[in-house]
Amino acid sequence: MTSRHDRELALRRDLVEAGHMVELPLRGLSAFTGTFEDVLAGVERLVHEMQPTEDVTVISFPPLLTQPVFEKTGYLDSFPQLIGSVDVFTGDTKAHKAMVVDKNAGEDWTTHLVPARLDLLSAPCHQTYPLHAGSRLERGVTYETGNRCFRHEPSDDPMRLVSFRMREKVCIGTPEQAQAHREIGRRVGPELLTSIGLQIEEVPANDPFFGRAAKIFAAGQLDAGLKVEFECKVYGEEHSGTALGSSNYHNDHFGLDFDITTADGQLAHSSCIGFGLERVTVALFATHGMDVPSWPTEVRARLGLDAQA
Ligand code: ATP
Ligand code: MG
Repeated sequence: MTSRHDRELALRRDLVEAGHMVELPLRGLSAFTGTFEDVLAGVERLVHEMQPTEDVTVISFPPLLTQPVFEKTGYLDSFPQLIGSVDVFTGDTKAHKAMVVDKNAGEDWTTHLVPARLDLLSAPCHQTYPLHAGSRLERGVTYETGNRCFRHEPSDDPMRLVSFRMREKVCIGTPEQAQAHREIGRRVGPELLTSIGLQIEEVPANDPFFGRAAKIFAAGQLDAGLKVEFECKVYGEEHSGTALGSSNYHNDHFGLDFDITTADGQLAHSSCIGFGLERVTVALFATHGMDVPSWPTEVRARLGLDAQA
């Protein structure tokens, strides 16, 4: 049996040889070319058109969180292995000279930098909770937002990147509103993916918690049925599937951390449905082949690819 890793390398090679992906000199960083980006734009549009509720605010943010907000998301506590932050240079000309000398000598010049107190965004939804921090929501709110996310999980798998794009719909409101949003996501998420010819299975999922309590947290998340993933068996039936999207119910986790309440004075609950845009796009190439003009007509039409021909 071909190992999963060999299959990952083969898919990566196919994407590179077809000219859709360009490898950058660091594991987990890749560039993507025109045709790939056309397909990805089609996927992003489908996510946009997939309206879990009527009243959605589309909003875009920078791919950075300020340190106090980042701390509140809880990401550092649960997933320290994935995080990254920004350093900047604030010195004078003398300090600059010393830094350049170190760089030219092949020494570690980053010791001349200081933390900017900015953290790289791990999930687009983290930008939405601070909008309502310390406030009472008279009615539930739903945002659609997309961003470039950073997760330090370097891999040979072209579906697991260090920097990738995710588009999400996030609901903050009463438990009923947050649960309803998630349930709509569970229905329309797989519908979206199957409509572009992908074979999808919904599976219960847990996040990769860090450290000794990881197993307990993961089991708690699974038992409570908080997260489901839309998996595609990109590397064959005999290997584990890959999550192309997920639908998460956070309970009052973010309501508590950001002090958000609802009209009845209770803590706000939240949920989100998100798709990895490169992941869905790579799954399309793995399923339909490297030659986009020969993809099934309905799939091309759904992705709006014929309009560009
Ligand atoms: P996985 O179990 O594969 O690590 P995840 O549970 O960490 O995925 P989520 O946090 O639910 O993923 O993020 C939503 C979506 O973002 C995923 O379903 C996937 O499509 C995409 N995604 C997550 N991590 C990556 C990554 N490292 N590279 C590319 N896409 C990713
Ligand atoms: Mg992950």
